[in-house]
Amino acid sequence: DTSEEQGREFGKGRGTVDCCYPVKCISGHYGELIFGQKKKINILLSPMIHSLPSILHRHVVDTVTCTRVMAGPENIKAGFMKEHDVFADSGVVYASPFVSLGDRHMVTAQLHSSLKDIFDLDSGETERAVLAGFQALDSFTAKTRQQSREILAWCAQNQKPCILVLARPYHMDTGIGHEIEAELQAHGYPILWLQYLPGDDDLMNWLFEGDIRKGRVKSPFDISDVWTSSYSSNTNEIMWGAKVAARCPWITCVIRLSSYECGMDQPTYTPTQKIVEASGTLFFKFGDLDSTKPAGSIKIRVETIVHYLAKYSQDIIQQKLNWLSPKCPLPMAPQERTPSSTVVPAETGAVVVAGETPAAERARHSQLGV
Ligand code: SF4
Repeated sequence: DTSEEQGREFGKGRGTVDCCYPVKCISGHYGELIFGQKKKINILLSPMIHSLPSILHRHVVDTVTCTRVMAGPENIKAGFMKEHDVFADSGVVYASPFVSLGDRHMVTAQLHSSLKDIFDLDSGETERAVLAGFQALDSFTAKTRQQSREILAWCAQNQKPCILVLARPYHMDTGIGHEIEAELQAHGYPILWLQYLPGDDDLMNWLFEGDIRKGRVKSPFDISDVWTSSYSSNTNEIMWGAKVAARCPWITCVIRLSSYECGMDQPTYTPTQKIVEASGTLFFKFGDLDSTKPAGSIKIRVETIVHYLAKYSQDIIQQKLNWLSPKCPLPMAPQERTPSSTVVPAETGAVVVAGETPAAERARHSQLGV
C-alpha cells in the first residue's frame, strides 16, 4: 500500500515533472522495490497501460487510460536515472511493456515482443500466461459484481440504504483514498464501488427502461446523453456510475473521491454532481486527496454524511421507487408506492427539501460542497 512514509523514505528527490498525487506515489513504490526489500528483486515490471477492460466496452468511443497513467512508468523511471542509472547499479532490469488491456487480442503480441528476452519467453508461453491472467481478472470481477448485487438485494429486502463510491480504481488503495468509505461503513452503511456495480441485464433494464423507451439512450450502458467525448475508460465509468446512482433506489448517497492535481476529473465534477442530485440522491465530494490524511476533517464530514443519510434515506428510496416500474428484479419487502413529500428533484438538478428554511438549505448545500 501507498503511504506518506514510503514516499518520504524511498521517493524523495525522484520527481521529474509536476504531476498528480497517484502518479507521484509510484516513485515511493519503485524506491521501496529497489532499496527496501530483504531479498533483492531481479526485474521491476511496470507496464505502460494504454487501455482497460470496461463494462462500457462497445458502448463508448474508447476505453483508454489517462495519459499520465500511460506515461507514468517513463516519467518515474527518469527520476531514477537523473544522475546515474539506479536500476543498473542495483542489478535490477527495468521492464515497461506498452500494453492495451482493453484490446485483448493485442496483448500477447505486445507482451511477447517486449518481454521475450527478459523472461526468455516463447509465444505459446506468453499466450497461456495472458489467458490465465484474463481468466483470473474476469473471475474476480464477476465474483465482486455478484457480491455488489447481493448487497443491493439485501438493501431491497430490508429497505436499507447503501453508499456508492465514485472514484478511480486506485482510490481503493488505503494510502490514496485514505479509507474514507471504511469510516462510513463503520456506521452501518454498506459500500459499493462503481467499478463493481452489477451490470446484470434484469437490473440495468429495470433502472434504465424509461430512458430507453424515451429514446434518450440506446442501452443501460450508453452514456452519450451525458458524456459525448467518451474516450477515457475511468472517466466514462464515473459518468455511468453517477447515472446508476441517480436511478438505483437504495443508493441514497454518493461519495466522490478525487486526487490532488487530477486534470481528468476536473471537467466531471459538475456533471456527476448534477446527475446524482437530479434524483435527490445525496452527493459529497472529497477532492484534492494527497499524502496527508486530514483525519479530523474527514471525521467531521463523515458525521455530517451520516446525519443526512439517517434523515433522508427512506424518502430517497421511496421517491426513486415511485419513478421505476413495480417489477423490481430484486426481492423487495412489501411496501406502499406513495409519492414522497419530502424530497423532490428540481429541474436544475438541485434538491429541494420541503419544510427546510432557505438558510438551512444553503448551509446544507455548502456542506455538500455545492
Ligand atoms: S486520472 Fe487524474 S489522478 Fe489519475 S493519473 Fe490521470 S491525472 Fe492523475
